Amino acid sequence: MASIWVYLEASGAKMSKGSLEALGEARRMADTDGASVTGLLIGSDLASLAETAGHYGADKVVVADDPAYADFNLEANTNLVVRALAGSDVSYLLLPVSTHCRELSARYATHVRVGLAVDCVKIEKDGEDFVFTRPIYAGKALEKVAMAGSHGVATLRPNNFAALEPDTSRRAEIVPLGEKLDASTLRTVVKEAVAAAADKVPLQEATIIVSGGRGLKSPENFKVLEDLAGVLGAAVGASRAAVDAGWRPHSEQVGQTGKTVSPVLYIACGISGAIQHLAGMGSSRFIVAVNKDPEAPIFKVADYGIVADLFEVLPLLTEEFQQVLS
Ligand code: FAD
Repeated sequence: MASIWVYLEASGAKMSKGSLEALGEARRMADTDGASVTGLLIGSDLASLAETAGHYGADKVVVADDPAYADFNLEANTNLVVRALAGSDVSYLLLPVSTHCRELSARYATHVRVGLAVDCVKIEKDGEDFVFTRPIYAGKALEKVAMAGSHGVATLRPNNFAALEPDTSRRAEIVPLGEKLDASTLRTVVKEAVAAAADKVPLQEATIIVSGGRGLKSPENFKVLEDLAGVLGAAVGASRAAVDAGWRPHSEQVGQTGKTVSPVLYIACGISGAIQHLAGMGSSRFIVAVNKDPEAPIFKVADYGIVADLFEVLPLLTEEFQQVLS
């Protein structure tokens, strides 16, 4: 019986939301096919996460658990994935979209010479095969990809696939990955991994993003954006213009040369809507734009547009949401 494998991204004691969504999708795919779902966890101190993976749909979880694997190392993790899947019953390997998984998926697919579909927003059964849908040309078109031999790798955009409701009575078989990696064979060594502030919502996992551009005019003015984001429990994003000006860190940049995000709600403030920005957020479920120029291209993709000065509108929105949500 074939198995759909899911690379589960863990950070500390938490599995990423995208990993749980990928598990849910793997379960749905497996159930149409009589296949099984195998999770793969790499890191340190993974016992309770492996159990959690079972609650979210894995039949089996292969665990590479070692303090030496605590920090993501692309070379080491690719090596471990290759070892875990070699000779297995894998049909497809699913990963959530993240910077690490994007790199790992490409390396792994090249190594084992199978197809790769990145940034998928939908997976459907078409005859015997699965078909993977992904946005292309900065989100202007959708491409459907089938993989030769019904084998391949796909990364799944967060917020496009539903995680299963956790069922604590579901238990996965937990299998340690036998052999250890010999660290002396690695060509790259992670010297230090600096975690982002723990209270921040990770941009690519956020359900709501409030993003600011050149229209904010100064780094201090991002306070109005942060206030709104705080009330909504949202992450803060930025256009490249705001990042290039040194107002926001590059980790917050949304777009072609930044992050690709797909939240339920994207609020673009003082952002014109250049094609390179749309490439990173065009697949958001609802887009709200605040811009004082009624001709700004962002209004062409926005579901709701507010033509106004953002410095007047954002404090009002913050106040209003505060009242409604408190
Ligand atoms: P602007 O285009 O200057 O727009 C500012 C907007 O703010 C205007 O529409 C204005 O009407 C509005 N505004 C001003 N004041 C107010 C106010 N008080 N209230 C309301 N609205 C106001 N860009 C990205 O964002 N992400 C990328 O990843 C990216 N990658 C790129 C890659 C390449 C190869 C290239 C060439 C460009 C890339 N860009 C990227 C840059 C992109 O082309 C635009 O230059 C950039 O997105 C513009 O940022 P902006 O919308 O903040 O600024």
